[in-house]
Amino acid sequence: MRISVDLHIHSCLSPCADDSMTPWNIVGMAKLKGLDAIAICDHNATHNLPVAMKAGQEYGVCVVPGIEVTSKEDIHLLCYFPTLEQAMEMGRRVNEKQLKVKNKPSVFGNQIIVDDDDEECGTVENLLILACDMDIEEVAFEAKSLGGVMVPAHINKGANSLLPILGMMPENIELPTVEIYKMRPHSALSKLCLTSSDAHFLEDILEEGHVLECESASADAVVKALLEGERGKSE
Ligand SMILES: [Zn+2]
Ligand SMILES: [Zn+2]
Repeated sequence: MRISVDLHIHSCLSPCADDSMTPWNIVGMAKLKGLDAIAICDHNATHNLPVAMKAGQEYGVCVVPGIEVTSKEDIHLLCYFPTLEQAMEMGRRVNEKQLKVKNKPSVFGNQIIVDDDDEECGTVENLLILACDMDIEEVAFEAKSLGGVMVPAHINKGANSLLPILGMMPENIELPTVEIYKMRPHSALSKLCLTSSDAHFLEDILEEGHVLECESASADAVVKALLEGERGKSE
């Protein structure tokens, strides 16, 4: 089946995202926009995933648990998982490898954790946008070992992106799917190319129409489709 997706959305946990990006608001907006599946991928943290998945169940929108990891090379790497537990474990592993520097909310923004009712119940003290002590290969390995898939984010964008930083596609890492920023998929890439919003504001969440072919609107099926990449599409 073809499902409408937006697989890169930041919640209010990311300092750069608007405080109105609470999980319930995001999922509600996705429902209004007619999306079948979304992914919440905060910078190097997963604290708001449990409530996002609860909201997803309530609204009937599939929420794929994810995270946007900043590698040692300063490359943004989206990681998606079939289950909440796997994503939370990835969050713990990334946290262990992150430089501990206190966030200055007045400079970088708030890092808000919300409870089941979408109310603020805490904040993350250490700044989440810093790089982790894991290179791209290690991030790919951790994601895969937990049952997930790594998808380089906005590979053609200026900062924090794979192509400008590495200058080429790494050949030693399996990358069936990549995310491209505001560009039509290039067939020469021979990879599945995702277009997502990287939304930091509610209004930036995609309209329906960005489709992914997968077996069902479930986190498991979405991860499978991303793992299969272009190969899965042509079968
Ligand atoms: Zn990014
Ligand atoms: Zn992002």
